[in-house]
Amino acid sequence: MKILKAYKFRLEATPEQHVRLMQLCGTARFVWNRALSICNEKWESGEKIPSSYTMAKWLPIWKKDDETSFLAQGWYEFRRQLEYKQAWAGGEVVAVNPAYTSQACSACGHTDKANRKTQAKFI
Ligand SMILES: [Zn+2]
Repeated sequence: MKILKAYKFRLEATPEQHVRLMQLCGTARFVWNRALSICNEKWESGEKIPSSYTMAKWLPIWKKDDETSFLAQGWYEFRRQLEYKQAWAGGEVVAVNPAYTSQACSACGHTDKANRKTQAKFI
């Protein structure tokens, strides 16, 4: 029998690191919401929804756009550091598909749209 175990960690970030982490989370959410918005518009107008291959090409374009150049800062370095520190401590970093994670119950994993009352509030 294979037993899966998970640990939750709290990052003890300095105030500066906390701000930076929140910025990084904000950029990830911005990218997700922007791509979702484009897909919704296409769906509603009867167009074909872009493939993940097509969507993967959007981010490098957005990073070069003056209005969204803030997207070019940071996730790669954050992940590299996290993986390095985890490997050093004997741990592992597991990447998770972000789809529906904001609607998933953190206790039992049950995923439902009703778990997320508003865009700003998690339960
Ligand atoms: Zn639950």
